[in-house]
Amino acid sequence: MCGVFGAVLPAGEPNEAANLAALGLFALQHRGQESAGLAVSDGEQLMLYKDLGMISSVLDERRLPSLRGRLAIAHCRYSTTGSTVWENAQPTFRLGPRRAIAIGHNGNLVNTRELLDQLHGGRARLPASTDTELLTALLADEPAADTVDALIHVLPRVRGAYSLVVLDERRVIGVRDPFGFRPLVLGRLPNASLSDLWANDDASTGWCLASETAALDIVGAEYVRDVDPGELIILEPGAAPRSVRFADATPALCVFELIYFARPDTYMEGRNLYEARRRMGLQLALEHPVDADMVMPVPDTGAPAAAGFAEGSGIPYREGLVRNRYTGRTFIQPSQTMRQRGVTIKLNPLRDVVRGKRLAVVDDSIVRGTTTKQIVSLLRKAGAREVHLRISAPPIYHPCFYGIDTQVETELIASTHSEEEIRQFVGADSLGYLSIQGVLAALELPYERFCFACFDGRYPEPVPYDVSRRKFILEDEATLAGRA
Ligand code: SF4
Repeated sequence: MCGVFGAVLPAGEPNEAANLAALGLFALQHRGQESAGLAVSDGEQLMLYKDLGMISSVLDERRLPSLRGRLAIAHCRYSTTGSTVWENAQPTFRLGPRRAIAIGHNGNLVNTRELLDQLHGGRARLPASTDTELLTALLADEPAADTVDALIHVLPRVRGAYSLVVLDERRVIGVRDPFGFRPLVLGRLPNASLSDLWANDDASTGWCLASETAALDIVGAEYVRDVDPGELIILEPGAAPRSVRFADATPALCVFELIYFARPDTYMEGRNLYEARRRMGLQLALEHPVDADMVMPVPDTGAPAAAGFAEGSGIPYREGLVRNRYTGRTFIQPSQTMRQRGVTIKLNPLRDVVRGKRLAVVDDSIVRGTTTKQIVSLLRKAGAREVHLRISAPPIYHPCFYGIDTQVETELIASTHSEEEIRQFVGADSLGYLSIQGVLAALELPYERFCFACFDGRYPEPVPYDVSRRKFILEDEATLAGRA
């Protein structure tokens, strides 16, 4: 999972698209904390800056003033293909025989090895080991006259998840794969120089693209619509957005975006995600009622579902754990002592609140089970009498190939343990997961609109190769043998 943002300011506006794109990206920090970067165009040349680390440390006030132009794209990374090294940060950049191109990619390709076979010169030509770097090289090499034609020629050969922001000298292009695994939305920027802020004048309006609607809110843009699966949206200064369809849509939006990944103030499929999650909590209370003294969330992401669970069960809602918001993911390896402290670095129980209580603890997922086990243990040490776990998602049985770095199957506790074994492992008094039907009832949307593959194994896009080293496919000598 990554965050992407693109911006095009109208003619006459200052060359400050970089500031706007950085601001939009800040709203997407939760989607990737390994690296951040930004590329701009002044209409003639592309400039790029990227580095490892959080957005605020990479795109600070020392960098932004030098990145001048009215077109910009920005990206924050959570790695799904390739290690966390500087070379793999995005946007990618490539100067080809016909075009300069930069790309920010949210998603993960599933036919990287086949695409590598199509690159003249092979792996040796790639300065980084991401699927995005490979896609950028293929697009830069493509002999088509312009970037839009290059995309139309190359994308039908590309399989997997890709919501892209693409920058060339003259435009920003938003792209969403035919399944629309990852979200991408179009927004309209107010034009401060117009007397009517929302004047419907496409030529003098600025436009932006973002992974989530919350990023549009932060930059003061108005949501226009989703980029459709299988669609390109072309943004140029002084022109209305242009839409080009490059494939038929077979929508399969990642349902985990709605359950957990995206911000609660974002809207997807016409649903506000706080409300959607609160309704998942209501469903969970129907499916797995419990006799408890208080309902509490695992902060922060369990909070909306816990509110719904409390409402549905009539049990009071209280906070029982405080989260340290500033620990984040870090590319600095923690010391052995820090690892031993585990979840206590992030979560601290409110002893006076939980002592002597029967707790219904609501979280949004269990992956390996180790964090959940630590949380249950923390609450018991703080004096909780009973700990009943309620999970606002179904059990995760299968890995994701479409942009979430979930573990291989054997590391997913639900794929190797029964629910009773998981309950015993984490040390809870009872355990209940929301069903797939419960998720759909909360969303009031049909199964066919979503990917549920990590819950039911029905992958919309088949994955053709051995998956055991998929993340490092462009770093693995064995898989690359004979392909250099
Ligand atoms: Fe989302 Fe799971 Fe599908 Fe991956 S496999 S896209 S995490 S629903």
